[in-house]
Order: sequence, then structure tokens, then C-alpha cells
Amino acid sequence: MLITGGRVLVGSGAYLEDGAVLIEGDSITAVGPRKEIEQQAGVNVPRFAFDGTVMPGLIDAHVHLAFDGGPDPVATLQNSTDEVLFEDMRRRAEQLLHSGVTTVRDLGDRGGLALRLAAEISDRRTPGPRIVSAGTPATTVGGHCHFLGGEVSGEAEIRNLVRRNLAAGAGVIKAMVTGGGLTKDGPKSHQSQFTAGELAALVDEAHKAGVPVAAHAHGADGIAAAVEAGVDTIEHCTWMTSDGLDFRPDVVQKIITQGIAVCPAVSPHWQMLPRFFGEERAAAMFDLVRRMADAGVRLMAGTDAGVQRAGFDGLVPALSFYSYLGLPNASIIDMATSDAATALGLGSVTGRIAPGYRADLLLVDGDPLAELDALKDVRAVFASGLRYEPNAAAE
Ligand SMILES: [Zn+2]
Repeated sequence: MLITGGRVLVGSGAYLEDGAVLIEGDSITAVGPRKEIEQQAGVNVPRFAFDGTVMPGLIDAHVHLAFDGGPDPVATLQNSTDEVLFEDMRRRAEQLLHSGVTTVRDLGDRGGLALRLAAEISDRRTPGPRIVSAGTPATTVGGHCHFLGGEVSGEAEIRNLVRRNLAAGAGVIKAMVTGGGLTKDGPKSHQSQFTAGELAALVDEAHKAGVPVAAHAHGADGIAAAVEAGVDTIEHCTWMTSDGLDFRPDVVQKIITQGIAVCPAVSPHWQMLPRFFGEERAAAMFDLVRRMADAGVRLMAGTDAGVQRAGFDGLVPALSFYSYLGLPNASIIDMATSDAATALGLGSVTGRIAPGYRADLLLVDGDPLAELDALKDVRAVFASGLRYEPNAAAE
């Protein structure tokens, strides 16, 4: 299929005016000036003529398809059978796709359901974004998200859990390095869960298989421990302590030199956070994300979709947080496309419009480099070459 666009986003902040993208099956075969690509395509190729912006599909690097995004996601999960839950997960995947997301990283499900859904989508039996799934996240006994089934104690049990996830097809290994707010009966968000030896074993087991490790870490101590263990991404990274926040420039420097990406997993409703944390604390937390960005930490976009107040159409609203911090639109779009792809180990697969890449495309009206909100005007989405038109479907 030949897709023509008023402009095609071909690089970081770079448009090709009056461009075209040629796709064949699930891949991009050519991109360039419209006239040139039209000639190359020949007259018999089906066309999708569009005068807005053609850009890479978005990546949400932190979702939980198993949670419903309602007021009590844990209770809803616990009250759902696998069958009901799986049907809900299918619906959420489609919702993500319709909001322009063509790849997600699912950082913790129950019973391998996200892995099952990932296989359905890649076999083209169900519409949805590509899912990189962590399977069952590793946690301590009674620890953060223990109800997902990943309680382990000691290095041998940790290695076994990692191996089970890898055997089931996990594309990332998730470790709950600290507590979290979702688990009311678990450790507090700032408290560390694992020993240095346990974290090292987890990272070793994952890296032996060439699979990256995502560390959920709110606490400053947990962040430092995750960095020492050699994880690949840090989720949340809020620098919490028992009585405040503790931003550690020496640890930030290691995050940069070790090439660790940070996913702040900012809520689509981030403007409401001052109401929950208080004005002063929320401002201090926001400021630490800005300081990480200013220091040169590689940030990537993610929403924690599924937890309280985080629905499956929230990536673009969440991106407005980075505008508020003062980041340029080109950098924000990179965080949700090429930079996220690199951090997920998919840097040569998706996140860019170039020959050989998967045909993961988002077609929006308007000019998102000038006005980020243009990302909300979704006209069509191509996921591995399959076309979805959310607005056409609603009519
Ligand atoms: Zn999460």
C-alpha cells in the first residue's frame, strides 16, 4: 500500500513535506518524496491518500493490561476469572491502538495473560498494539503486587521465576525493587524489597538470555540498588525516602553512563497529583523529573495504564506533562517513539519510518511538532501493516 501524507515525520523533529510511505505486508519498504515513491510503487498498488501528518506509531512503555484503570484495580482483578479478564484485556489493547499506540510494554500481568494476548495480536487474530510482556513480576513474599503471583525469596527462587517468564516468552523481566501505592498491605513506596544478591541474580538470569530488566523503584535506596545491579530501565524513579525526596546526583550520573532509560510513568491525570500529594510535594516531584531531563537522562513515555485513574487512551494527555516541564515537542515525540523503541530493545524494529522497519504508523490531522495536541486527532493507525480507522468505526 502507498500512503501519501502532507508531511512525513522521518527523523527527530524532521518532516519530509509531501512525502509517501510504501508498505508491503507488515513492513515499510520505501519512504521519500511522493512523486518518487509513486513511481517506484507502480499504478496497481492500493493507495491511502492523506493530507495530514504521517508519523511513527506511539509507544507506551509502561502499561498493565490486567488492571482496569478504575478506583480499585486490584479488587477488580481479584474478582475476575481469567476468562473475563482476558476479554477485558483484548478490549483495552484495542483502545490503545485506537489512540495511536502501536507498541506497549506490559509490566506485570496475572497468569501469563498478556503473553497470550501478545501471541494473538502477533498472529493477527486480535487487533492491538505489539505487546512486549514481562509476564509475572518478581516481588518479595507479601511484597508489591504479590497478588500477581510472583512472590520469591532468595536467589534460587528468583532465578527460577525469571526462567519461567523467559520460557513463556517474556520480552522483559520486571522486578519490584521497592514497594508501591497500589499494594495497600505491602511495603511503603520508598522501602526496598530485595537484597543486592537477589537483584544481581535476577539481572544475571535475564541478561544471559539477552532480555532487559525493568526495575520498579520509587525509593532512593531502591533506585541506587537497581543501578548497582545493572538494570536496563527504571520505572517511576521518584527518589522517595521515609520523610521526603532524596535526589542523588552521583546515582543520576551512573544512570546516564550505564545507558539506563527512565520511565517516569506519569499519569494521564498528572494535573490532579497536587491534590493527592499536596502542592509542595507534587511540585518537588515534578522538579526531579525536570532535573533528570536536564542532566541528560534518557526518558521514555509511559502511563502506568490500568492503575487508578490511568485509562488506556491516556498516553497523549500524559505527554503534556513534559510540555509543562519545558521539553520541546520533538523530544517529547521521540520519548514516545524512537527513544522508547531503543529502550525496549526494538530500536531496529519500530519507532521510525524507514525501510525495513515494521509498518507501525500514526496518521493525524495537523502538525504535532507545532502543536502536541494534534496527536489526539487520529485518522488512521497501521500496526504491523494492519490498518485501523477509529473514527470511521465510530460512525
Ligand atoms: Zn506499573
